[in-house]
Amino acid sequence: MECKLQMLQTIKSMCQENLVLGTWGNISVREDNCFWITPSGMPYTAIQTQDFVKINLQTEETEGLWKPSSEWRLHAACYQQREDCKAVIHTHSIYATAFAVAHAPIPPVVEDLVQIVGGGVDVADYALPGSPELAENTLKALGAKNAVLLANHGLIGLGRDLTEALNVCRIVEKTAQVVVAAKMLGQLQELSPADIHSMRQFYLTSYGPGLREEVK
Ligand SMILES: [Zn+2]
Repeated sequence: MECKLQMLQTIKSMCQENLVLGTWGNISVREDNCFWITPSGMPYTAIQTQDFVKINLQTEETEGLWKPSSEWRLHAACYQQREDCKAVIHTHSIYATAFAVAHAPIPPVVEDLVQIVGGGVDVADYALPGSPELAENTLKALGAKNAVLLANHGLIGLGRDLTEALNVCRIVEKTAQVVVAAKMLGQLQELSPADIHSMRQFYLTSYGPGLREEVK
């Protein structure tokens, strides 16, 4: 039950922060060899815990009252190919989608982005929504990172939990806005691959609250 309450909380944050509009976008969470996903076409304000749909990652069998989000294949592919992935969020936020429409990658120019995503955000080749090709193209462009843009569509953010996946979507949207503003001021200065690697490793291994040595 707890993971479904977290899903409701995440949906609320996504709506409040304008990361999605209407019924577009979707979220999911891994649980053992299954994942829970938002139902298809239901307004976010109407969704309750009993409306989430459970899908088995091996058999792709579905349990629940409603049809799963039409992008369930995309979510399944993330869990099947990325053992570290425990939550997936798909948004249509405005600036990230602008980059997706221009087929322009979001460059690695700010530290929070490279820490949480692992570098810049690439664009997956276009495929129709809900198609197996979209899942295939997305995973190819995603690689080992935690975010990818879907051409002419939106953004996928992954995380070790829902909080992290939501932060990925927030930081990618913020960076897309920063890049547009920075381009008006001059040339972008990208972070070096060595610095990106170092910040990503620090984030994965040491980031977060920690007790001082003296009080351990
Ligand atoms: Zn979408």
